[in-house]
Amino acid sequence: MNECLLCKQEFIPEISFLQIFSWSKYREPKICFRCLHQFERLSEIRCKYCSKNMNVAGTCHDCLDWQQIYGQNLLYNYSVYRYNDYFHDLMVNYKRYDDYVLYEVLQEICYKELLKIEADLYVPIPTSPEHQQKRQFDTISAIFSGLVPLTPLLKKKSGCGAQGEKNKHERLASSQSFYIDKEKIKKSFNGKSILLLDDIYTTGRTLYHARDQLLQFLPDSEIRSFSICR
Ligand SMILES: [Zn+2]
Ligand SMILES: [Zn+2]
Repeated sequence: MNECLLCKQEFIPEISFLQIFSWSKYREPKICFRCLHQFERLSEIRCKYCSKNMNVAGTCHDCLDWQQIYGQNLLYNYSVYRYNDYFHDLMVNYKRYDDYVLYEVLQEICYKELLKIEADLYVPIPTSPEHQQKRQFDTISAIFSGLVPLTPLLKKKSGCGAQGEKNKHERLASSQSFYIDKEKIKKSFNGKSILLLDDIYTTGRTLYHARDQLLQFLPDSEIRSFSICR
């Protein structure tokens, strides 16, 4: 019996034959089947760049806007879930109420998809120094550090505010808030494939800023992103 981290009910994890024969990849489930199904997976018809669900496959309005700035050099982002109310509540508890243990839920719902994407370096989107100090943990690194080896090349300037507290216009207008950690970056990273890691892709502003900074130092790298929600 396991206790579900979300509803606190006990449940018996389902184990498939495949899992029995691959113990190395088996992770003990932390949430029950019913809670797992509150998360709404994105359907297959998506924007070819950012994973946004669409009625007809193609390029979404957000990405058409980014084309005005970046031309054909758009960021490929892979997401797994739709940002529904259930996910919203989970993130509020995780970030605003500092419910650290929820990182395990976030890991559980995305690790299979994340591990399908190969990259040389996994670079997490950093938390602001103010939030990090208040929470005593870095929200994004806490999710992904148990899943892939992280190379934290980016830092966030202080005093920039959280994107989650801004409306769409303010998000898009926000200025570059990241800088490169010069102690961590190496010349040999140039040309490597890099996967940026974030929780939610909203307008794309955060991830494009992160890519802009990395490309200044690593101009030959191929940079994509993974965010749990779109
Ligand atoms: Zn549950
Ligand atoms: Zn798009």
